[in-house]
Amino acid sequence: MSFKLEQLSKEKLLQAVRIKKQCNARAQLIVESLLERYVSEDDFLRKLPEINQCHYNDVVDERHILHLCSYPLCGEIIETVPQQQYQISTLTNKVYDITDRKKFCSPHCFKASEYIKSQMLTSPLWLRHQEIIPAFKVLK
Ligand SMILES: [Zn+2]
Repeated sequence: MSFKLEQLSKEKLLQAVRIKKQCNARAQLIVESLLERYVSEDDFLRKLPEINQCHYNDVVDERHILHLCSYPLCGEIIETVPQQQYQISTLTNKVYDITDRKKFCSPHCFKASEYIKSQMLTSPLWLRHQEIIPAFKVLK
């Protein structure tokens, strides 16, 4: 009896590993496809449920390396990235870390990207089947 149980859980574990591998491979393809200069909104919304926050962070970083605005729905090329890491707001007199902000061509793209990220699940993809996948909305 206990042998049978062990056998079963091992099989389940192996199955989970297989699903995990498949999910990651698929997510990797999606990350790569979101590095195109122009990504359509439909395409974007269709792909988002299949990746999680850390994949999205990869997209943001990779687009930045490619000198593209990090928001996938924006095709702007960012030729000069500010060197500084901090900026002082003349309005509030506060110092802001702009490391993430400068990956985007405009405050709007930054906001829109953060908005997408806030809707994403952080749970591993292969544990998703019991979870309700949210419908993503883009910031207009
Ligand atoms: Zn942009």
